[in-house]
Amino acid sequence: MEKDCLFCKIIKGEIPSTKVYEDEFVYGFKDINPAAPIHILVIPKKHIDSLSCITDEDEKYIWNIHKAMNKIAEEYGFKQNGYRVIVNCGKDSGQEVMHLHYHLLAGMKFGEKIV
Ligand code: 5GP
Ligand code: ZN
Repeated sequence: MEKDCLFCKIIKGEIPSTKVYEDEFVYGFKDINPAAPIHILVIPKKHIDSLSCITDEDEKYIWNIHKAMNKIAEEYGFKQNGYRVIVNCGKDSGQEVMHLHYHLLAGMKFGEKIV
């Protein structure tokens, strides 16, 4: 855990958040500024700066994040209609919070595709 990291503080409960999911490795909560009707941030309970920093030791976090996203999709009823996952990584992507996070977006039909 990093002392000055916003998302580490959220995991520890020092900053309030609307929790939607939690297990041993993963924390999921509502984005404060949603870009879709459902916008959840799914993060590892270990401080990892960004996707470009992951190591073999982080495998369990990455795997459990992916499992958690499917569980959330099922629980919140958008698994069938689908969802979009975005990970901003580094300066050019516009990543603002330097604690790895997966944006889980759902509840609308996404018109614009970049890829
Ligand atoms: P990034 O641009 O780094 O990929 O995404 C950071 C995300 O964190 C943004 O979507 C932003 O709305 C969200 N965010 C920033 N500060 C907070 C906060 O204090 N609480 C919550 N729930 N979300 C936050
Ligand atoms: Zn952190």
